[in-house]
Amino acid sequence: MKISTMNIEKIRVDFPILSRKVNGHPLVYFDNAATSQTPSTVINAIVDYYQKYNANIHRGVHTLSQEATEAYEEARETIRAHFNAKKKEEIIFTSGTTHGINLVANGFASEIKKGEEILVSALEHHSNIVPWQMLCQKTGAKLRVIPMTEEGELDMNTFYDLLSEKTKLVFLNHVSNALGTINPIEEIIQKAHQKNAAVLIDGAQAAPHIQADVQQLDVDFYVVSAHKMCGPTGVGILYGKEEWLNKLPPYQGGGEMIDQVSFEKTTYAGLPHKFEAGTPNICGGIAFGKAIDYLHEIGFDTIAEYEHELLTYATEKLLEIEGMKIFGTSVKKTAVISFNIEGMHPYDIGTIVDKLGIAVRTGHHCAQPIMDYYKIPGTVRASFSFYNTKSEIDSFVKAVKRAKIMLS
Ligand SMILES: *Cc1c(COP(=O)(O)O)cnc(C)c1O
Repeated sequence: MKISTMNIEKIRVDFPILSRKVNGHPLVYFDNAATSQTPSTVINAIVDYYQKYNANIHRGVHTLSQEATEAYEEARETIRAHFNAKKKEEIIFTSGTTHGINLVANGFASEIKKGEEILVSALEHHSNIVPWQMLCQKTGAKLRVIPMTEEGELDMNTFYDLLSEKTKLVFLNHVSNALGTINPIEEIIQKAHQKNAAVLIDGAQAAPHIQADVQQLDVDFYVVSAHKMCGPTGVGILYGKEEWLNKLPPYQGGGEMIDQVSFEKTTYAGLPHKFEAGTPNICGGIAFGKAIDYLHEIGFDTIAEYEHELLTYATEKLLEIEGMKIFGTSVKKTAVISFNIEGMHPYDIGTIVDKLGIAVRTGHHCAQPIMDYYKIPGTVRASFSFYNTKSEIDSFVKAVKRAKIMLS
């Protein structure tokens, strides 16, 4: 299938929110990099859970508990298959990307020593910087940064220079949330492994557009959030290679994660439960599985192709505006456009287009180091999804032009 003017309307019907109005105008939702919208199948799965089989999982003998456990574990299997993990036990449910990263960073405290190094890219989201700074403070390890280029790509030559026998872990995002750059993670994983360094990939921004195959990538850890891929907020997964997950200590103590408990000694449960202390977001996990099913119905190749069409169209149209500067011009990009117009504050542009029903993000996009590189306080970021249309882009460009007249 190919998304076209023929069937885009049918896809849009799957997303009830897209028919609402904002400030008297039809909603144009271009903030997909912050969170995606939710199709009816996912909304219905949430309603269904609370109406029919809401119960705690893994411990009850009663029917509802068994039904809930079954649905939750079925979702884990859907997610395993999607990422092509070898085993279901390698899929740990988390509250999202941030949780997944913190879980690994915490575990690495016993894996890394003073004088050893962690490499991080300059294109990171704050949630992928701060946990490593905390780990370095705790262990005396050193954080080193792979710099970026004017195009918003990683400076790979410096990466090769920085990578050494001291490197224990490399972490970076698959796709930059602020600029949309798709990073060459295959090459980075391969080179890091040659030095015996582990690699953690933040897949939050890639997951809605690119189906990552964790075995083919040979990645050690891969983390995502459901809410960026048509699922609900507050749930995500950490994929970890079994060897690593066995080696790392649990992140939180509590129910579900234990085998035997006494005051003298507690033994931990096996994978994945060792990392899943407490009652999880059961409904969220189930709905996450449905979101992945939905994306597969549309098809990841179809999504990537159509979104690229939107990106090309919007880039051309926006560049017709005088004073337009787009940040992040890598040829390998997802459908994200970060821009400024000379002499105008991004916040003012965002506020005016919102009056016309258009949702974009303004600010530093949780990636201040990138803004520092360009010496700007922030940008306007429009990020597209497969349910957006060229006619919405036309409305947006018109609104930006109007903002420009009002602000000059
Ligand atoms: C959104 C995002 C995160 C944070 O995800 P949460 O769901 O807030 O935990 C981390 N990294 C990237 C690249 C993101 O886009």
